[in-house]
Amino acid sequence: MTIPETAAGRSARLIALVALAAVAQAAAVENSPRPGGIVLIDAGPVGEDKPAVSFDGDPALLFKQGERWTAAIGIPLSAEPGEVVVMLDDAAVAIDIQPHGYAEQRLTIKNREYVTPNQQQLDRIGRERVIIDNAIDNWRDAELDAIALEAPVSGRRSSSFGLRRFYNDQPRSPHSGMDIAAVEGTPVLAPRAGIVTAVGDFYFNGNTVIVDHGQGLVTMYCHLSAIDVAFGDTVDTGERLGAVGATGRVTGPHLHFGVYLGGNAVDPAILLDE
Ligand SMILES: [Zn+2]
Repeated sequence: MTIPETAAGRSARLIALVALAAVAQAAAVENSPRPGGIVLIDAGPVGEDKPAVSFDGDPALLFKQGERWTAAIGIPLSAEPGEVVVMLDDAAVAIDIQPHGYAEQRLTIKNREYVTPNQQQLDRIGRERVIIDNAIDNWRDAELDAIALEAPVSGRRSSSFGLRRFYNDQPRSPHSGMDIAAVEGTPVLAPRAGIVTAVGDFYFNGNTVIVDHGQGLVTMYCHLSAIDVAFGDTVDTGERLGAVGATGRVTGPHLHFGVYLGGNAVDPAILLDE
């Protein structure tokens, strides 16, 4: 027996299909050739020899999209608009980096030790910088079928990546990540599988975890109230890394979420669903 479909049933099914299409579209990572963006290049069919793609002499991340290889290259926030060259096997591929106006932010920090650290604090900051830089700029071979990330916490996301910041009128490096507002203690979850390559209580970043996802894709979690992983741990997507807090140089509890590709900070929003 066939049940006649009602108009309401048909439109519900239609809405479900439209919603599915919207999700599929949101999950796709978009080419974003701008400072702090990710350049995606079609690098040929899967099945033949894996292509050799490099930028600035460093290998590019390669992942499979259907039957094609896609190369993903992180463009430094400091890059000038204009042409950059990516090497695809022996061919030079010119990519036009588009200008992008990042906003300016002026903050007053009451705790002056976070604005003008003393020599002892500067020494500590220098030692921590080496640990962080080594974890951020690291190549580890891994097979990747995608580079999209799950949200590490749900919460209001600031679009503050790339903000040019001034603390008490002193210029500081631009904001290298995304701040996600969440109450203290909210679990922070791994946005994809990886290996923990740094944990520590750092001067500016507070309690911090860094996860290496392979091929130069690295994520960083700062200002945590708790750390639930150890150096060298393997984590799966959704596994708890720690909890949101307000440690380090902060004005209130939030997660600072950093994403690095080839050692360059890129806008996390590019890899997250809407
Ligand atoms: Zn931040």
